[in-house]
Amino acid sequence: MDFAVSDQIKAIADGLLRFVDQVVVPLEVEHAAIFSNNRMIFEADGRYSDRVLELRRQVRTKSAEAGYYTMLGAEELGGGGLGAVAAVWVQMQLARRYGPERHLIHHVVVPSPFTNGLSPVLRHLDKGLKERYLPGIASGEKTLCFALSEPDAGSDAQAIRTRADRDGDDWVITGTKQWITNSPYADYAVVFAVTDREQAEGRKGGVTAFFVDTATPGFKVTAVIPLMGQAGGDTGIIALDRVRVPDRNRLGEAGQGLTVAMQGINAGRLGMAATCVGYAEWALAMASDYAGTRRTFGRPIGEHQAIQHHLADMAMDVFAAKSMLLNCAARIDAGLPARGEIAMVKCFATEMLSRCMDRAIQVHGAMGLTNELRLEAGYRFARIMRIPDGTAEMQRRTVATELLRGRLEI
Ligand SMILES: Cc1cc2nc3c(=O)[nH]c(=O)nc-3n(C[C@H](O)[C@H](O)[C@H](O)COP(=O)(O)OP(=O)(O)OC[C@H]3O[C@@H](n4cnc5c(N)ncnc54)[C@H](O)[C@@H]3O)c2cc1C
Repeated sequence: MDFAVSDQIKAIADGLLRFVDQVVVPLEVEHAAIFSNNRMIFEADGRYSDRVLELRRQVRTKSAEAGYYTMLGAEELGGGGLGAVAAVWVQMQLARRYGPERHLIHHVVVPSPFTNGLSPVLRHLDKGLKERYLPGIASGEKTLCFALSEPDAGSDAQAIRTRADRDGDDWVITGTKQWITNSPYADYAVVFAVTDREQAEGRKGGVTAFFVDTATPGFKVTAVIPLMGQAGGDTGIIALDRVRVPDRNRLGEAGQGLTVAMQGINAGRLGMAATCVGYAEWALAMASDYAGTRRTFGRPIGEHQAIQHHLADMAMDVFAAKSMLLNCAARIDAGLPARGEIAMVKCFATEMLSRCMDRAIQVHGAMGLTNELRLEAGYRFARIMRIPDGTAEMQRRTVATELLRGRLEI
């Protein structure tokens, strides 16, 4: 597999980094008082403050004007259609340059690959609805979320209980969704519901995807769920109480919702892996610098073999994850099947980042435990990433299944 990254892709990523340096970083500097204080970033109920939401909107729309916000979306949705190698390269460079906990950069300058922006699942949107909704999403004025998981169904998506009942030309959706990224702020939601209970109970489909305007009566975000020591965030709970949507808002065939979902989730897994590789490179650079400057026993700590081993282990991890990631992305661009490969990359890259953040903190001693260097935020981020978009256990299950069916080319 040839997975060289073209000069064109590198130039696009360089342009994006210049855009962030010139447009986004000055906004962060101007509003440093907000971004250095969790109590000012979030409201008491965990929602982003209005000021931060407005800044995030500004960054999205400026990124859209500059062509970056939609460049990774499919061409048929009005995106740049740059492909998988470009997507992982761009996301890796962003993460590597700016590191974790940048509320105006991560998933703002370039949206999450499937829960927001020109998500692949929107390819199934009715033509008239595409004309109505895509311009707002592409401009960054409107955002969306992807509502599959529920209090009693995460890994086992087929077990969801939210149901959509047919009523004339409409569907009426009732249920609860949980852990839904961006749900507290989204204008639209892609909601998955059981439309054929018998098929769903027999694990033969029966789940359908719908495009829902979050202003529809009966749609309510009841709580924000702060995760891993955060004062707030973007993960929320949605209550759907007889939410009525026309049949034309269906995404794909009735009963095929989980196939539609996987088209998005696979893009998300690769994007998450790319961010993890970028953050690991960022942490390795920090640890290497510190090893050269911090002195103990009369010499830089980088001269102690124990510290060298931490750095070497991080470098091996990053090299392995990056090679896997680019190889897998090239497979996708070549039109080859990659289900097992994506699962390997997602699992390896997220676990790799946990190891690297842990080592980077260790190299920094007590300084690593303060959040002044954002290593502590990176450690929390890494821990979280082993669960969404399919847990590490579920990825291993996919890898083993593909392996045993002879569908992995290693
Ligand atoms: C930060 C974050 C953002 C998220 N964003 C979204 C979103 O935008 N939209 C959305 O729909 N969901 C979202 N989720 C939900 C996420 O997809 C689920 O949390 C995930 O799929 C795991 O489901 P669960 O938490 O219910 O755990 P469970 O499925 O209950 O699993 C519990 C444990 O059992 C293990 N397990 C389960 N089944 C098996 C098996 N067959 N073999 C071996 N081990 C097994 C799991 O790996 C895990 O360790 C998000 C979650 C997080 C943390």
